[in-house]
Amino acid sequence: MNHSMETIQHLRDKIAQYEIREKEMAIRLEELTDFIENASIPLHWVDGQGIIIWANQAELDALGYTKEEYIGAPISSFHADPETIGDILKRLVNNETLQNYKAKLKCKDGSIKHVLISSNVRRKDGKFVHTRCFTRDITEIVKEQERKTELIRMLEESEMQLRMATDIVESSYDAIISKKLDNTITSWNSSAEEMFGYTAEEIINKSTLLLLPEDLVEEEQEILARLKRGERLTHFETRRITKERKVLDVSLTMSPIVDASGHITGISKIIRDITEKKLEEQRKNDFVAMVSHELKTPLTSILSYIQLLLSKVKKTDDSFGIQMLTRTEIQAKRMVNMINDFLNVARLEEAKVHLSNSEFELTALLQEIIHEIQVTNTSHHIESDCCEAMLYGDRDKIGQVFTNLISNAIKYSPIGSTILIRCELVEGAVKISVKDEGVGISSKDQEKLFERFYRVDDERIKNVSGFGIGLYLVSEILRYHNTKIEVQSSIGAGSIFFFTLPLR
Ligand code: ADP
Repeated sequence: MNHSMETIQHLRDKIAQYEIREKEMAIRLEELTDFIENASIPLHWVDGQGIIIWANQAELDALGYTKEEYIGAPISSFHADPETIGDILKRLVNNETLQNYKAKLKCKDGSIKHVLISSNVRRKDGKFVHTRCFTRDITEIVKEQERKTELIRMLEESEMQLRMATDIVESSYDAIISKKLDNTITSWNSSAEEMFGYTAEEIINKSTLLLLPEDLVEEEQEILARLKRGERLTHFETRRITKERKVLDVSLTMSPIVDASGHITGISKIIRDITEKKLEEQRKNDFVAMVSHELKTPLTSILSYIQLLLSKVKKTDDSFGIQMLTRTEIQAKRMVNMINDFLNVARLEEAKVHLSNSEFELTALLQEIIHEIQVTNTSHHIESDCCEAMLYGDRDKIGQVFTNLISNAIKYSPIGSTILIRCELVEGAVKISVKDEGVGISSKDQEKLFERFYRVDDERIKNVSGFGIGLYLVSEILRYHNTKIEVQSSIGAGSIFFFTLPLR
């Protein structure tokens, strides 16, 4: 009896011990589960079919999914790179252990997380149970690396651009220099050394006034004021002096240098030596002026002989003679006009233009010019809508402006079209315009139209003859009258040339 009592007690003790251990184990399990569930490292398990069977909160938080969205879904659907997850699963099935395998995971918000995966397979009795995956987020590190790589690339690119720019500056035939707003020179390329005779060491930190002819100080101040307003000047023709005191004709292209905060801190200049070109032009002009001058006297005599003969023949009934002499007179007049144009250009070049100013009536002058043009030209309708206005200026030269503008309107518009000359009174002045229905002029050509010898390069007018001096004369004559010629036009839509003159 005693023996069996002892045995029962013994068994009871054992059961009690088991119960204590069981409780202890339950607590340990609970602690462990809590630790894993709430560990800061994201963890998950994937079964043999690649389905997620468990994931801790850190993993769900990291990617932004709920338990329902994540668990039960194939792991591959959360990888941005299908090849990577394919390789991971293949390696794990082959019993490999992965250490820090790089992968990209898709978050719920569409962003991508760069991670390192460490994983191996839990097997029981040699059979695949599930994978155990630890994920470490390295997105910030990867982004930092990407930013660094991008910065290095940008740095290399800017270094390359700087090298190229330095090469261009150094190999340029033009002098390329920069200065501060107080005219102190800050850079000086080798062409500048050659052009002006100063080395960079000699001239850097000195003033650009060293290069400036005395009579151009005022012009330089005006230019500087324009650049300070942010303007850019291109191909501005002027003069500069070298170390040897030689005067050079130069063409300047200047731009303001702007710092990161938008302030103008200096000026960059490209200086092209055009002395030779100018001399060449001068020689050509001298030649044209000389030839025109020599031709003018005999031609004027021929014209007056023709006119004399014509007035005699007109008294007879020799209609053939009248017709031939009328045509000859027209052609001779055209030649006289052309030669006058050349002589006028030459005079302008030498600044030898004198205005013979007088008071004159606008409509009468216009009617004269229109009548004269209509004698030799019947191909276009010339209409005028003019007001009476007394003006003061050089009547002949203003007459030449009308002749040139109307002749151009005829030359560059189709036969049968209309040319409208209009005068309007506006605030103490009269605005005069010549409008045609011709080929029109692109805005690019409009910028250069009034330059000497400029002709538009256009298939449609390639057979129209001319020298490109008519509009140059127009603009110069008007400049001498303190006004300017303007144009409104576009290709195919005709042109309007206009200017204003003050009323007397
Ligand atoms: P030219 O007529 O002798 O060529 P101009 O100086 O008078 O020289 O004109 C310069 C250029 O401007 C012309 O070659 C022509 O291309 C263009 N042009 C002038 N007037 C007109 C116009 N009314 N319509 C279209 N183009 C014109």
